[in-house]
Amino acid sequence: MPLAGTRQLMEAARSAGRGVAAFNVITVEHAEAITAGAEAAGTPVILQISENAVAYHNGKVLPIAAASAAIAAEARIEVSLHLDHVEDEQLLHRAADAGFSSVMHDASKLDFADNVAATRSAARWGHDHGLYVEAELGAVGGKGGAHTPGVRTDPDEAARFVTDTEVDALAVAVGSSHAMTERTASLDFDLITEIRDAVPAPLVLHGSSGVADTDLRAAVRSGIVKVNIGTILNVAFTGAVRQALADPSLVDPRKYLGPARADVAAVVERLAATVSCPA
Ligand SMILES: [Zn+2]
Repeated sequence: MPLAGTRQLMEAARSAGRGVAAFNVITVEHAEAITAGAEAAGTPVILQISENAVAYHNGKVLPIAAASAAIAAEARIEVSLHLDHVEDEQLLHRAADAGFSSVMHDASKLDFADNVAATRSAARWGHDHGLYVEAELGAVGGKGGAHTPGVRTDPDEAARFVTDTEVDALAVAVGSSHAMTERTASLDFDLITEIRDAVPAPLVLHGSSGVADTDLRAAVRSGIVKVNIGTILNVAFTGAVRQALADPSLVDPRKYLGPARADVAAVVERLAATVSCPA
């Protein structure tokens, strides 16, 4: 089916009390695995490409976006394409023509007033170009910058931020941290609910790889709609590659990328089902 819009996936999930998983694409195998895993789970899914992943592809967004969109277009489930953690305005401006229906503009390293100003301008540009715009308030741990770990999004500030910037979705700092390889994050579920009740926009959890399955369900029940997942896929991917490469006679990349893709698809199937069925 044709690419879905992130807005429609978010609104459908929110009104049904479900979450929608957004998985990070690095290679073409990731896009194939994420789509296959979501198909197996029978859930919609968001393929997201981060600014860092674009940098890895020599700064070129179009080839990996086009490949992801083409894979998504052949899926039996709804798939949307999202550009994640964009700090570079030039990259933001290329999103609309690269097949993305949504973008996360990340000005969270700035102080509140500057974050509002930068995000409002990005949101206006995005809306003028048909994009659904996510932003972040209270840096999610693990991305460095001026913020110390343990920072939390304040519900009143979040409400002002969404009103002032007119963003469509808000990434919040509620205890998760990027790039965790163990699932030991401790989320503040009461805070999630307080922010949900204070803010009109749906909430996004970044750093979800470090959150246990039961806590992901509880996060969705508390008010998270979009659940961003990256690192745990790469733990599976790299583990499979490492295992396959234990055979020193192996030279065909398909013999190690194939198992990696299969293992990532299995993780996606489980997590896509987990967040879309929070009860
Ligand atoms: Zn993130």
